[in-house]
Amino acid sequence: MSSLLVDNIGELVTNVAGTGEGGRLGIRRGAAILVEEGRIAWLGPARYAPAADRRLDAEGAAVLPGFVDSHAHLVFAGDRAAEFAARMAGQPYTGGGIRTTVAATRAASDDVLRATVRRLRTEAMRQGTTTIEIKSGYGLNVTDEARSLRIATEVTEETTFLGAHVVPTEYADRPDDYVGLVCGPMLTAAAPYARWIDVFCERGAFDADHARAILTVGQAAGLGLRLHANQLGPGPGVQLAVELGAASADHCTHLSGADVEALAGSSTVATLLPGAEFSTRSPYPDARRLLDARVTVALATDCNPGSSYTSSMPFCVALAVREMGMTPAEAVWAATAGGARALRRTDVGVLRPGARADLMILDAPSHLHLAYRPGVPLIRQVLHNGVPQCRP
Ligand SMILES: [Zn+2]
Repeated sequence: MSSLLVDNIGELVTNVAGTGEGGRLGIRRGAAILVEEGRIAWLGPARYAPAADRRLDAEGAAVLPGFVDSHAHLVFAGDRAAEFAARMAGQPYTGGGIRTTVAATRAASDDVLRATVRRLRTEAMRQGTTTIEIKSGYGLNVTDEARSLRIATEVTEETTFLGAHVVPTEYADRPDDYVGLVCGPMLTAAAPYARWIDVFCERGAFDADHARAILTVGQAAGLGLRLHANQLGPGPGVQLAVELGAASADHCTHLSGADVEALAGSSTVATLLPGAEFSTRSPYPDARRLLDARVTVALATDCNPGSSYTSSMPFCVALAVREMGMTPAEAVWAATAGGARALRRTDVGVLRPGARADLMILDAPSHLHLAYRPGVPLIRQVLHNGVPQCRP
């Protein structure tokens, strides 16, 4: 059994509240971490560190839990750069472009889809993302939804069946039939490859009755619940997510007072996706309002070819601080521990003995630099399951 000691850490963000400075960030100084068999075996003052087979010198830099990106759509073919350009020239975003990606995805081979998923997974890892949720949702038929999820399981255990992304063109005039397909044969084919089920509950996608029906049968099939809610306008999504005990309501851009209250009294995380507002030039969600109401907030990328083609959690942290009223500490917590809560995981997003050895070493002395130095590649090294990802 080979052990690895990470030492000479300047600032260590543990996300173990009350064990150091920085409130929920649990910041420790002069600490070291011993990694064995992909887990943190020991964490404490460097002068008491146990002997190890190998050493990784953090060179006085900050060490944080790896990012937990709890919302990404990585299984697709093609891109929509031209749609982005048109939007930046003044055309509004309606979600309709999803159908363009569906056509390209259905036409793509397994190898093409696999290459895209792997490229984006690697890209995210290099930016510190050690856990990533990946949704289907560009197949929208039995074969292609199951295929998308099967390919996603090759790179993550956090897979989400999103057959209810939009109603595909061939069902445009009979949405009830499509919901029947999602709840029946498509769910049966997808469930073996999925941990979660999700619905895009929005005007132009699925209404509350459809979303409730889909989530209810998904839950009965053993899947956890998540929901795309209140992205493009006010709506019933957030209330439905809370009512059904979903792990997360995602987007939360247009919330009523009752929506905020419902989230505050629940175990449902509000996952904010500022890359989507950035890429659609839309108003950002009000993170400050949610945090002040004591709602648990997560940050994620929403990486997808239409409305947010970024895999960068540091970029989302910077946006959340600059545009959404979050402090750097709140944004870093939301992008790590918050994401873990949104996936109901206790072994990631935190650095303590027993947790997965998923962490990043910055090219910076403090977590503040993630927001303070936007657009700069600050991730020097990433450990995933204890294995260095960026260089040996
Ligand atoms: Zn999404």
